[in-house]
Amino acid sequence: MRSGYPQFHRTLEVSAISLFAAFISGIAWRLAQTLDDAASWLVLAVAVVFGYVAADFVSGFVHWLADRYGSETTPLIGNTFIRPFREHHLYPDAIAKHGFIETNGSNCIVCAPVMASAFFFMPMTPSLIATFALGATLAFGMAIFATNQFHKWAHMSQPPLAARLLRKYFLILTPEHHDLHHETPFDRNYCITSGWWNPILGRLRFFGRLEATLSFFRLLCTNQDIFDQTSAVRQNQNVIDDLP
Ligand SMILES: [Zn+2]
Ligand SMILES: [Zn+2]
Repeated sequence: MRSGYPQFHRTLEVSAISLFAAFISGIAWRLAQTLDDAASWLVLAVAVVFGYVAADFVSGFVHWLADRYGSETTPLIGNTFIRPFREHHLYPDAIAKHGFIETNGSNCIVCAPVMASAFFFMPMTPSLIATFALGATLAFGMAIFATNQFHKWAHMSQPPLAARLLRKYFLILTPEHHDLHHETPFDRNYCITSGWWNPILGRLRFFGRLEATLSFFRLLCTNQDIFDQTSAVRQNQNVIDDLP
């Protein structure tokens, strides 16, 4: 485990992964009740693509927020959520050494409440709308869960066979694509599930314009120098002590 990784956060991650698994199973069970003809399976196929594409956008949006706003000292989320993103720029390959819990726990902390809300509040009566809503939510949740795993695989010199197969068909983030994010000043290719949104958002200069808009209306201002934000991490020479 990396330094600055509190035991409390670890316990929270294990709990969140368990809850996430329980609610995603519940959503899958409810979805199964709605699949009774060819039309529902067709709607499910569309919903899965929609959920997967949406997850890639959300992965980029959250990554952008964590990279560009706040700092390691931000209350509540600084040490546990923002710091790992900033550390990752300094030690990009350290993620390849993270275990299952450390890799996937934070995503589940955010995603488990969303899946719980979906399980309790989504339509129960079988219909094509219910099939779409449940199918898209299931695909979205599973893709968010897998995002940091895909990201980790993009930093591994020898990823598993499944990763290589999925990459071959550009279904998940590729190292060549993600390496562009790791070029200073770390301000492009934020999406890390499949990376499909990156060329579109890049061409639109989406995040740059959003930053300018938020700054113009004095809603949020980015830290001017992202490297200043990592000073606490840089001073911590033990950050990868645990690496073999
Ligand atoms: Zn980043
Ligand atoms: Zn990375």
